Amino acid sequence: MERTRTPVVSGWFTGTEAGDGFRLLGTRCSACASVFFPREDAYCRNPHCPGGGELAEVPLSPRGRVWSYTDGRYRPPAPYVSDPDAPWEPYTLVAVELEAERMVVLGQAAPGVTPADLAVGMEVEVVEGVLDEDAGAARTTWWFRPVEGAR
Ligand SMILES: [Zn+2]
Repeated sequence: MERTRTPVVSGWFTGTEAGDGFRLLGTRCSACASVFFPREDAYCRNPHCPGGGELAEVPLSPRGRVWSYTDGRYRPPAPYVSDPDAPWEPYTLVAVELEAERMVVLGQAAPGVTPADLAVGMEVEVVEGVLDEDAGAARTTWWFRPVEGAR
C-alpha cells in the first residue's frame, strides 16, 4: 500500500524525490524581484519596493552554502510534532545562504548530520524529509544535507 505523503506546511515545498526533484517554494515580487521564504502572498515586504508588483511562486535554488548552524538539545514546543514520552534526540539546525535569491533559509539538517559535519561556506542541498510517519501516512518537511564530496 502506498503511504500518503502530506507536507507539514502546505505550499512551502514541492516534489518528493531527493536532489533535483525537491524544491522549496518562495514567492518573488514582480516589481522589485525580491524573493520571500517563507512565502509571502499578501504584499511585498521590501521597504524599497516601488510597489504594484505581483507575488508569483518560484522554486528556490536546490543548493546553497552554510551561513550558520547550531543544534537543538531541547524539545521545541508545538506545532513541532514529537512524542513527549520518547527521549529527546538532539537535531541540527542550519541557516543556508541562497546566492541567487540573496537570502538565508532555515531548516533542519538531515538525520545523522551533526554540527561536527558542517562548516560555514559548505555546500548543502535541500532534500525531502519525513517529520513523522506511521503505517499509512508520512508528514513531510525539508532537510538540508552536505552535498556529496563537500565534507
Ligand atoms: Zn517588491
